[in-house]
Amino acid sequence: MSEMNPFLIAQQQLDEAAKKLGLDPATHELLRWPQREFRYTVPIKLDNGRTKIFHAYRVQYNSARGPTKGGLRWHPDETIDTVRALAAWMTWKCAVVNIPLGGGKGGVTCNPKEMSEGEKERLARGYMRVVARELGVHRDVPAPDVYTTPQIMAWMMDEYEAIVGNSHPGVITGKPIAIGGSEGRGDATARGGVYVVREAARKIKLDASKASYAIQGFGNAGQFAATLHTEILGGGKLVAVSDSRGGVMNKNGIDPEAVVKYKLETGKVEGFPGTQPISNADLLELDVDVLYPAALEGIITEANAGKIKAKLICELANGPTTPGADEILHKAGKLVLPDFMANAGGVTVSYFEQVQNTYNYYWSLEDVHQQLDRRMTDAFNAVYNTRERAKVHMRLAAYMVAVTRVAEACKLRGWV
Ligand code: NAD
Repeated sequence: MSEMNPFLIAQQQLDEAAKKLGLDPATHELLRWPQREFRYTVPIKLDNGRTKIFHAYRVQYNSARGPTKGGLRWHPDETIDTVRALAAWMTWKCAVVNIPLGGGKGGVTCNPKEMSEGEKERLARGYMRVVARELGVHRDVPAPDVYTTPQIMAWMMDEYEAIVGNSHPGVITGKPIAIGGSEGRGDATARGGVYVVREAARKIKLDASKASYAIQGFGNAGQFAATLHTEILGGGKLVAVSDSRGGVMNKNGIDPEAVVKYKLETGKVEGFPGTQPISNADLLELDVDVLYPAALEGIITEANAGKIKAKLICELANGPTTPGADEILHKAGKLVLPDFMANAGGVTVSYFEQVQNTYNYYWSLEDVHQQLDRRMTDAFNAVYNTRERAKVHMRLAAYMVAVTRVAEACKLRGWV
């Protein structure tokens, strides 16, 4: 899956939903393409005195439901097609959690691991200078993504305000709390995922407080999922975790807090006391109730889907399951909580940040959690009910919910 052009994959997924929904041809064609896309060259002075030209993009995929929203990625493999695909997925993600935003995405082809802090700041400000006229709280709002950080968002906001000459914190989200960031953004993706696991467990009559779980990938999403699972569900047994160096397991249970502390101190999970090693591939096939893929795309395929024993698969990662594997899991009675619904907690709290910036009044952490819970629970119920009614797998049901909402907005505006 990862070898295919990601934008073609995004179009194929839409095509399947459009067919199932009987979408009219004009709406279907409109939704297959970005509304607007921008390519830039950004000249930056390097520390060695030379100038380097960076290639950069911003795609505003669809703004029928509101201003476009989506992260900014800095990655050596970034192309217009990765940005287009991610902007399409943001459109469906915002629609499935029913926040009044469209989808967008930005990217700069660069390798931040080879750049100094000064070079990163100049690139952040240089990118903002070229893109500023297309952004705005009522137009298009970026956020952090792969290799971009709250500090990079802070530099970009500062540059934007210097260009327009007044205060505009809502032009970008994922900022540090001291300059307009929201409480609760750090763990929002994992928290949203655990809320939908709680709802799904109720539907399949799984006692979540006793459920066993395993996590592949132990970065931001995976680490927070480890501890939030027991906190939100009132119990549960963590059986295995892994990162890029390999995994560890103990069928009697692993202390979530302790393994997170060990990972933060050592940079790995390997060697965590009281566990035995397990490969990333074997972890996926463990006899657990809930599986959280929280690392890479394309890891549940037609080759291993039949061996997955988990009853619930909560996709915190983007694109972990291939289309062929979806069908196999559905036929085997597994419930997949698809990525653009399960990991939408992050963009939802980004939206809350935008709202707080706009009225310049900030919510408590409890308010953020309550509002996030409501959005995620409603999203799950809308998707689950569509799955039952249309007799389709969860990912197609999520597409059907999202595409219906975006299509309705396009129609009401008179675009189609
Ligand atoms: P991260 O970089 O913090 O962590 C990624 C983890 O995956 C690391 O522990 C890394 O060691 C591990 N990993 C890398 N290669 C691996 C391999 N071959 N096998 C097993 N583990 C491997 O990233 P993150 O922010 O936690 O994001 C993880 C996934 O969740 C990505 O797919 C990302 O797109 C998705 N996601 C994250 C957020 C968010 O807010 N953090 C939001 C939406 C989606």
